[in-house]
Amino acid sequence: MHPVCRSGLLCFALALTTTAAADAQADPALDRARKILRSVPLIDGHNDLPWEIRNSKAAPRDVAAYDLRSKTPGHTDLERLKAGQVGAQFWSIYVPGEIKDSGFARVQLEEFDIARRIIERYPERFAPANGAADIEREFKRGRIASLLGMEGGHVIENSLGALRAYYDLGARYMTLTHNVTLDWADAAADSARHGGLTEFGREVVREMNRLGMLVDISHVSPGTMSDVLDVTAAPVIFSHSSARALTDHVRNVPDSILQRLPKNGGVVMVTFVPAFVSQEVADYEKAETDEIERLRPQVPDTAELRRQVEAWEAAHPRPEATLKQVADHIDHVRKMAGADHVGIGSDFDGISYTPVGLEDVSTFPMLFAELVKRGWSDDDLRKLAGRNMLRVIKSAEATAGRLQRERQPSTRTIQELDGSTVSVP
Ligand SMILES: [Zn+2]
Repeated sequence: MHPVCRSGLLCFALALTTTAAADAQADPALDRARKILRSVPLIDGHNDLPWEIRNSKAAPRDVAAYDLRSKTPGHTDLERLKAGQVGAQFWSIYVPGEIKDSGFARVQLEEFDIARRIIERYPERFAPANGAADIEREFKRGRIASLLGMEGGHVIENSLGALRAYYDLGARYMTLTHNVTLDWADAAADSARHGGLTEFGREVVREMNRLGMLVDISHVSPGTMSDVLDVTAAPVIFSHSSARALTDHVRNVPDSILQRLPKNGGVVMVTFVPAFVSQEVADYEKAETDEIERLRPQVPDTAELRRQVEAWEAAHPRPEATLKQVADHIDHVRKMAGADHVGIGSDFDGISYTPVGLEDVSTFPMLFAELVKRGWSDDDLRKLAGRNMLRVIKSAEATAGRLQRERQPSTRTIQELDGSTVSVP
């Protein structure tokens, strides 16, 4: 409803004016972006909808109650996915590395359950998908090919058997770590205990290559990124990371790693996380964390601590990240790694606020329109949208086919390979 629209006739006149205005503002760059996204599936590397539903305030874990046929409180629903021309989605099945209440496997299995129920619930729009052929077929049918990506290698609990079982349940990538360093891999946001991967960590990568599960090196330390690139037989992905040269955040990819991607063949799926794309936001979040750390020992009461943090936030307005900054990161990855090694990994529903202009899944075409205005060719935009990822998935599938002919499933243990004292019954 237009704010001044009270009488029928006036409303009609205003509607005409609005339509005429929209026509007058027709945006050729956006038209071209939309046309490109009709010709190739836009493959988004990371959407946290399963976690959003798990933690929904109204009805936690209730896939039916979180109705994607109406407008949801989060970033994702059917109407907005359609407007955003999303062609394929890696739904993140995330498990925090910090949980202490039980084994990680239970939470991982619950996340599989939620994600699979989401996909099953909307068969007219979502199709379960396991590989490149599924993505291409479902794109032609007008359904969103829905793949699963596990976020956090702690979920295998140091077991290659568990890794294989997850593959059979549909996991098609695994982010080697989340924010916690594991017994076999260093995380970006935690201490570097191993300098990268241990020997068991290398065996995890080799087994993922044999299975055809993409090795996702978002969230890992630069040492782990480098070790993975040394050992992997298939192209890697970064399911949601941006460029460290533009925003100095530990979650981003250094130029030294970007330069190794052409040889590996992998893709950085540039993310929209505000603190990863804007240095001002990164600095702001660091200042806020520092303030919380300063206050915590002085303010033991949680409610009072929250009140004081809110007072700090009120006194320090948060800067905004922008769509143009995300485009800058995409430009940078193309410059350093090449147009064959860049993709999109939004992290929608995994972030509490978004860049201006990229508010939800409906906004992807605006980002492509910005790149059109920056002189990107249609061919490079098709690579960015989905062709690069299709190439990576096909290559990982071919590598898996070859490795499965060459060797059996690995039965190596972390005790054998690392001399670890971690006990596995
Ligand atoms: Zn993440």
